[in-house]
Amino acid sequence: SYRPIHRALVSVFHKEGIEVLAQAFKNAGTEVVSTGSTAKKLAELGVNVTPVEKVTGFPESLDGRVKTLDPHIHSGILADMTNPEHRSQLAELGIRPFDLVVVNLYPFADTVRSGADEAQDIEKIDIGGPSMIRGAAKNHASVAIITDPADYSLTATRVQNGEGFSLEERKWFAAKAFAQTASYDATIAGWTSSRWAKPQTLQSDAAQDSAGTEFAPTLSRTWDLAHTLRYGENPHQQAALYIDPLNQIGFAHAEQLGGKPMSYNNYVDADSAWRSVWDFAPAIAVAVVKHSNPCGLAIGATVAQAHRKAHACDPMSAYGGVIAANTRVSLEMAQQVKPIFTEVIVAPAYDEEALSLLQTKKNLRILRVANPPKTQRQLRQIDGGMLVQSKDMIDAPGDRSDTWQLVAGSAADDGTLRDLEFAWRAIRSVKSNAILIASDQATVGIGMGQVNRVDSSQLAVTRANTLADGANRTQGAVAASDAFFPFPDGFEILSNAGVKAVVQPGGSIRDEAVFESAKKAGVTMYVTGTRHFFH
Ligand code: 5GP
Repeated sequence: SYRPIHRALVSVFHKEGIEVLAQAFKNAGTEVVSTGSTAKKLAELGVNVTPVEKVTGFPESLDGRVKTLDPHIHSGILADMTNPEHRSQLAELGIRPFDLVVVNLYPFADTVRSGADEAQDIEKIDIGGPSMIRGAAKNHASVAIITDPADYSLTATRVQNGEGFSLEERKWFAAKAFAQTASYDATIAGWTSSRWAKPQTLQSDAAQDSAGTEFAPTLSRTWDLAHTLRYGENPHQQAALYIDPLNQIGFAHAEQLGGKPMSYNNYVDADSAWRSVWDFAPAIAVAVVKHSNPCGLAIGATVAQAHRKAHACDPMSAYGGVIAANTRVSLEMAQQVKPIFTEVIVAPAYDEEALSLLQTKKNLRILRVANPPKTQRQLRQIDGGMLVQSKDMIDAPGDRSDTWQLVAGSAADDGTLRDLEFAWRAIRSVKSNAILIASDQATVGIGMGQVNRVDSSQLAVTRANTLADGANRTQGAVAASDAFFPFPDGFEILSNAGVKAVVQPGGSIRDEAVFESAKKAGVTMYVTGTRHFFH
């Protein structure tokens, strides 16, 4: 099943590593056909190369858009030499078959990432390359298709020893090649469809034009392997990080400035921590996260103060946590962080001395990350499928306190309202059912991830008061609930603990009973009309 290589077609954008092939072609006397700058490079390396125009009888034209798109080339790629009819047709046409095709494509994704304009991006959509790859991969019965420079050295050996590749080997290369063109096209599809919205003239009122179709760009995108991870959530699980090739910002692209390699759980927790603070700007916010949930979150006049307040919420849980700041980390904050065992710290920037100090902690992973765009999609895998949704942001109309409806008690004073606004923004990053108690722009008790709202309320109160060395942190504090109270009971745990104002979405059929209970307790209650579940 081995097919020796007598004639090769080489057209590569990236010329790296081609020397080893050139040497083999020279030694074996292989006939080589090649495009413009590839031919030039091979000639420089001493290969006796035939320019593609000699074969096609047609000049490379239209800025290189048409080079190899020609029957003289594609018949040589597609003729099945195991088929006698193909063989005789080829002979009649005077075309010689290719045994080897080596191609790599115009760097579309790199060009997009470089910030080039649309016309330049489009020019980097390779046409002839994928056609050759597809043709050669389909015709693996006769042709070996090489698209990965990692395979050059083996190819050189097989060219030179006259052996060529076996059918199984050619099939494997074909599989690799199809995967590559699929990914290449998916990247283009992701780019085009996320840029070019459906115009009014094509809108129909048919049901299939529902909102879901706008997610297609996200799903048609392929993901690039960034690196494998030591293990997954547990040591017996394998894991890797993939990144979006068209999105150069966002947490997955964070730059690591110190510490051990990130683990799977580090990524999950650090992403949660970043999610909880990044859009607090212009306020300065710091979060401490454990197992995807904040155990402290605060706004401060300085980043160091925000960190002190966030840490004070629950110093016990902060041990082994992940810290995220939405602004530059100062030396003062770094000095505070240093004695605390911390897995990861995430921020958009670090003062020089802060960074040097943090870097003395060999185990502390230090990440620098840029703000994500506001339109990010979220993907979540379920067995046999993928769920996609737009990202939950605090930017719905109901998230603004001037739209909140006062349903019990007297209107909050400015300080109380600021705390309620803080609590409302903070609760978006707490796993449901979530109850968050805050005072002075800092969380004091968080009840997260419970299967009913009563337990979440109880947990928030208990954590607020047992973690405070006997102080009562709930008296006079405010609270937020990520979704409505289905019964008054959860709310009453908060009011009994002395909470003076509550913000919640409302919308329960028993809203009136909950409002009544708040009125009786003299607690201020606002409803937002917007909820922020987070599962
Ligand atoms: P070269 O650098 O040799 O001038 O061109 C090599 C690149 O051109 C490769 O990336 C190959 O995929 C691409 N290519 C080869 N033939 C064609 C063609 O007919 N049209 C276009 N657009 N690209 C081609």
